[in-house]
Amino acid sequence: MLDIKHTICPSCSVGCGLNIVSKDGTIVGTYPYKRHPINEGKNCLNGRNSILQFNSQIEKPSIVKNGQLEESDSETVLKIIKDQLDSIDSSELAIICSGNSTNEELDRIKEFADDFGCEKIGFYGYNFPNFKADVASYDDIADATTILAVGDIYRENPLLARRIILSKENGAVFINLDDVEKSITSLNADEFIKFEDHLEDKIDAVKSKLDENSIIIANKVCCKDDFALLESLSADTGAKLLPVFNAPNMKGAMNRLESWDDEEVKNIIDDSKVLVVVKDNMLDYLSDDDIKGKSFIVNISNEDNAFAKISDVVLPGKSWVEKAGTFTNCEGLEQCFDISAEIENDNMSEMEIFDKLA
Ligand code: SF4
Repeated sequence: MLDIKHTICPSCSVGCGLNIVSKDGTIVGTYPYKRHPINEGKNCLNGRNSILQFNSQIEKPSIVKNGQLEESDSETVLKIIKDQLDSIDSSELAIICSGNSTNEELDRIKEFADDFGCEKIGFYGYNFPNFKADVASYDDIADATTILAVGDIYRENPLLARRIILSKENGAVFINLDDVEKSITSLNADEFIKFEDHLEDKIDAVKSKLDENSIIIANKVCCKDDFALLESLSADTGAKLLPVFNAPNMKGAMNRLESWDDEEVKNIIDDSKVLVVVKDNMLDYLSDDDIKGKSFIVNISNEDNAFAKISDVVLPGKSWVEKAGTFTNCEGLEQCFDISAEIENDNMSEMEIFDKLA
């Protein structure tokens, strides 16, 4: 019998509703969440493909030996981790979280870190720094007379791009800034401005085009200084700013934890003896040499990827369809979701893992 349950799409921070279709305990597809106010009955290919990760995932707690995962059990792996934690002092532990955990999980991990006395807890923010200023809402896109997009919004955040298209149909001028030669977004823009490496020398070219009826949407920054330039551009022109992230709860992570860039993460690794990494593939932004052999790596993730093979132990945790909680989307809306698929396994949730390690 088919079972259809609502959840939030895990493939970017726009926060679209997504339905998970299961049959006899197996996920067989997705279906747009028709009444969800953000995506209004549509999901992009990235969202619909979110379930492809279930084709290849780690199903058992494992110990990694010579790059190979050897299946173990929760009790054994937890004991190994506890022994490692007992052998260090609080300054030698680092916890790398991500925007793939719920707000409730991030709060529990932070509580664990505080109790341990661990100050090195944060997440890789893809060069977006922590920022407190108000962000634009999706409704601001509809009302904008000029939209400046930094990055390829059409490819990476198509349901946000849909709002840009509607705004363009109402007369908005659409400008795209990117460091690539050509993209779906650049091909659809009224004006495309290419930058080399950093935004600095292009800010003046766009400043005169923006005012308080404008919006700046950025899903890519090359460094924290580039984000500061966008913040200044917003302050100088009155244009509203909407940073868009690649993980569903990066805004929630940003509200709670320190956002690190790659150099900061490298320094954290060099200064630590035990690294606990929660739902993050560090090889997305660091090289093998930056990570390997420097600390004992506890990888809490069910993703079967190259990072798992350079970890020391792996606890799969729960997959996103097995979770209930909240994600904060990029416009700051906290959305609640329930478990959307019952998958038969003995894996502990991240909450249980940190409860047992405490
Ligand atoms: S725009 Fe983002 S949140 Fe919406 S369906 Fe696509 S990937 Fe998912």
